[in-house]
Amino acid sequence: MVIVLLGPPGVGKGTQAVRLVDDLGAEHVSTGDLLRAARREGTELGQLAQGYMDRGELVPDDLILNLVKDHLAGVDADRDVLFDGFPRTTDQAAGLDGALESIGRRVDAVVLFEAPDETLIQRLSGRRSCPDCGAVYNTFFSPPASEGVCDRCGGSLVHRKDDTPETVARRLEVYLDQTAPLIDFYDEHEAPLSRVRADRPVEDVFTDFRSAVETQAS
Ligand code: ADP
Ligand code: AMP
Repeated sequence: MVIVLLGPPGVGKGTQAVRLVDDLGAEHVSTGDLLRAARREGTELGQLAQGYMDRGELVPDDLILNLVKDHLAGVDADRDVLFDGFPRTTDQAAGLDGALESIGRRVDAVVLFEAPDETLIQRLSGRRSCPDCGAVYNTFFSPPASEGVCDRCGGSLVHRKDDTPETVARRLEVYLDQTAPLIDFYDEHEAPLSRVRADRPVEDVFTDFRSAVETQAS
């Protein structure tokens, strides 16, 4: 199965993706994580992406599509794939359809997570991320056992530079302008789109998320 997770920044896509990939043994493809890794490694892509990311803008479609195609080339053809934070424009979605078609696959399910802006803003202001292992915490809802220290690997947690109030405001605008049109795109697509209310406890959201994916898979 190829599953696409849609939704605004901070809605909980990454949190839910990690749970489902654990269950399915699927490949988790987060373009945000791939871009942050490229920045840490200082690659050309990382350098090109840096300014866009820090301003809360989208990285250009051609760079993202090349990144995803390169990544997919290393994934077994029969492995489930969960896209998180990709596609973010209709051109990326069309590019994904083309890339999948060329390897005999297609998008099988799309899940849209929804929550009010106040929830997103609070979650992003409290998000703390581990740059070493990728674990994500929240100072309000799921703090680490010891402040500022990753429970999983002992790394030092950071408040992402793009989680500051000004950049979050820009990212929410960019979502509405450039990514929300994907809802109509996928409404007309052969893959079914399910909506999940994400302003609830993580486990409740996950129950609905998993059952949406199971229904779409059957
Ligand atoms: P996204 O990948 O959509 O940007 P994340 O999964 O990183 O969002 O979640 C954003 C923040 O909100 C993180 O700090 C995470 O721990 C927290 N979070 C995610 N889901 C929930 C939830 N259902 N309830 C409370 N906090 C949540
Ligand atoms: P995320 O980790 O998904 O919140 O993404 C962080 C930032 O990375 C975004 O604000 C964009 O600058 C960039 N980014 C991640 N995924 C994409 C994508 N599919 N298209 C364009 N830019 C992206």
